[in-house]
Amino acid sequence: LTGIYGPLNMLGFNYREIRQAFIDMEQMVGLTSMKPDITDAAQATPLPPATGKGAELAFREVEFRHDARSTGLTGVSFVSPPGTTTALVGPSGAGKTTAVRLALRLLDPQSGVVSLDGVDLRLARQADVRRAIALVPQDVALFNDTLFANIAFGRPEATEAEVRAAADAAELGQFIESLPKGLETVVGERGLKLSGGERQRVGIARALLAQPRLLILDEATSALDGPTEAAIQETLRKVRTGRTTLVVAHRLSTIVDADQILVLRRGKVVERGTHAELLEKAGEYAALWRRQTRAH
Ligand code: ATP
Repeated sequence: LTGIYGPLNMLGFNYREIRQAFIDMEQMVGLTSMKPDITDAAQATPLPPATGKGAELAFREVEFRHDARSTGLTGVSFVSPPGTTTALVGPSGAGKTTAVRLALRLLDPQSGVVSLDGVDLRLARQADVRRAIALVPQDVALFNDTLFANIAFGRPEATEAEVRAAADAAELGQFIESLPKGLETVVGERGLKLSGGERQRVGIARALLAQPRLLILDEATSALDGPTEAAIQETLRKVRTGRTTLVVAHRLSTIVDADQILVLRRGKVVERGTHAELLEKAGEYAALWRRQTRAH
């Protein structure tokens, strides 16, 4: 293991990782056509120390327009208290990805405030924000390297114990044990091909390694097969405890136990509540739920 992280390799590896992490983050949130023009404020505020209970994420009257024609988000307000799960649902173009990009501070609102643990993200140090938030993307990018390196992606200084703990939490432990080379198995195009579920678990382990106070899950549009999907959902339910989670959901069945569900349409929150409350309201969410459950 130490061979990979030897001093000669360190600089190149780190640089590649950081660059790759950035490119990956862009791809994850569909940023390919846009470069974030975001810098630290002159007197950037540190985030308060993590409590181990998750962060408070708040949007207050957030306005964001991509350009004159597109809606982005208008007047979006919500608070995710520490340790809770907030789900974003809504039709394509409703603003879910825009909200995620604002939470990651890949975008700044034109007015209103996005804050993490009470600190306006525009005033926070970017390094703090990057450390506090981890994203499990729709499609987990793997590179041709060991499982260890793929999980430690973005945190090459992680110890073997930390990587194993993250892999265990993502319930990859048994799979890794079944491989003759364990964490040293090379994966990716030129190595062991991972199944969709295993890739997602690598993405979850990667995110958990950062011990984020805010975990953002961007659910894949296409479902895995039933049992794999159910097993991943079960893992995600476990890893959500002790941290705040923001989920972009395409399948409402994955968010029935969310603490709050925000239904977005054309950049606005048109309904909010728990699954049960929204069904009772018999509005857009209820209609969407009926459509999705009928389809099964
Ligand atoms: P989907 O479920 O399809 O991913 P979404 O709910 O995530 O949709 P967003 O991607 O946030 O929606 O898009 C919200 C609005 O902003 C849409 O009208 C979209 O066309 C517009 N938009 C998104 N990104 C850009 C961009 N880079 N430049 C201009 N307009 C954009």
